[in-house]
Amino acid sequence: MGTEQNKYYIVCRNITEVFRAEKSLKKGGIKCMTVPSPPKEAGPCTTVLEIGYSDIKKSIQILKASYIEILKIIKAKPAHIVLKQKIMESIKNKEFREALIRVTEGHSPTLSDIKVLLEATEENQKVLWQTADEVRQKTVGNIIDIRAALEFSNYCRRDCAYCGLRSKNRNLSRYRMTEREICDNAVKIASMGIKTIILQSGEDPWYTRDRIVSIIKTIKSETGMRITLSLGEREPEEYQCFKNAGASNYLLKIETTDKKLYRLLHPGYHMEGREHHVRLIKKSGLITGSGNIIGLPGQSIENIAHDIIWLRQEGIHMIGIGPFVPAPDTPLEKNTPGAVDLSLNCIAVSRLVCQNSYIPSTTALATIQKEAQLQGLASGANTVMLIMTPPQYIGKYRIYGNKFAVDLDWALSMVKSLGRKKPQAINNTTKTCEVAGFEYHTKK
Ligand code: SAH
Repeated sequence: MGTEQNKYYIVCRNITEVFRAEKSLKKGGIKCMTVPSPPKEAGPCTTVLEIGYSDIKKSIQILKASYIEILKIIKAKPAHIVLKQKIMESIKNKEFREALIRVTEGHSPTLSDIKVLLEATEENQKVLWQTADEVRQKTVGNIIDIRAALEFSNYCRRDCAYCGLRSKNRNLSRYRMTEREICDNAVKIASMGIKTIILQSGEDPWYTRDRIVSIIKTIKSETGMRITLSLGEREPEEYQCFKNAGASNYLLKIETTDKKLYRLLHPGYHMEGREHHVRLIKKSGLITGSGNIIGLPGQSIENIAHDIIWLRQEGIHMIGIGPFVPAPDTPLEKNTPGAVDLSLNCIAVSRLVCQNSYIPSTTALATIQKEAQLQGLASGANTVMLIMTPPQYIGKYRIYGNKFAVDLDWALSMVKSLGRKKPQAINNTTKTCEVAGFEYHTKK
């Protein structure tokens, strides 16, 4: 799509229009992709369509002929950060200073620059976090997006070495929520003013394509919420069906881009296969989320630097970065957890390198250290996912132990203490949570 200077964004009224526009443009042979809206200029919709300069005229014609309204077309501006003189002078380490300048000037990042930034400690780390926070503010703005995850099944056919849901774990009591249960919970979540629900599960083929399609349609018609799916790898043609049924996003973490490590941790699977699925998801028009785990046994800083380059190259819209948390009843239960500082650095560097992505400050981070989630939001992250799984199941979705149940109160307290903004529709009162049936979340 040309160089950064030649990118333009088409702004539509809402996400349905963005998807319609994307479909028409692709049909007309225009290369385009959905990317997060830049703050302020782009209006109320969180997603815009990126096109190249040379396609503007033809795109306008195509959209006009398809009766799709364009609110405006704006030039993509990479967030150029001018490192303040004082901050610059405070960086004593030449290697770090030069790497930071190169990355913030919008150059294509090199593996060695990213590595240097990931390794930042003490003063340098503070500068890194501050710079990422500034880029976050300039690219995705001050609203902390709050989304809700509903973990509807803990059955899984896979055997990922780090995950407590792995099929070989016989010490886990398994559950599946019915379609009605899932939809009733979605209605409660919607009544809190939350606009996006993330339906997550182990890789569970019991939920056939038709069952998932039916769940998507019912949630859509009963709540109008945006639906993100996180179901693991599905049959190749299913992603398109889910998109057609009304899902907006799909989350499939690459976990690690290191081929050897991937194979070791995911018996019977390989990184290229996972990557292929991420690309299939993207091709189906679903807005694509991915991400990695930090501190896996045998993982190097260079591996993580490579993950970040991969996330940029694939144009990942939502980037989930979480530290490895040793899970009970897995082969890795005695391993050391991933480092909080490295995870925070990875969030910060991903913000610098990928610029206008949605980056959550993850539950895994909060599980290792509650305050680290707050720091994540001050180091480049702009999203929080609430865990809205019903109380009778929440403890059973044990991807790792002692999972911190991020709730609305905690999310809003972070928004407040950082002086940021919450999404407008989210009701501010604990009382609303109680009305919505989430007493257990608010009265801890
Ligand atoms: N079956 C779905 C959802 C998996 S759970 C899928 O395959 O995408 C969601 C995420 O939890 C995973 O992508 C993984 O990154 C993370 N996860 C699982 N176990 C973990 C652990 N022990 N430590 C840190 N993250 C873990």
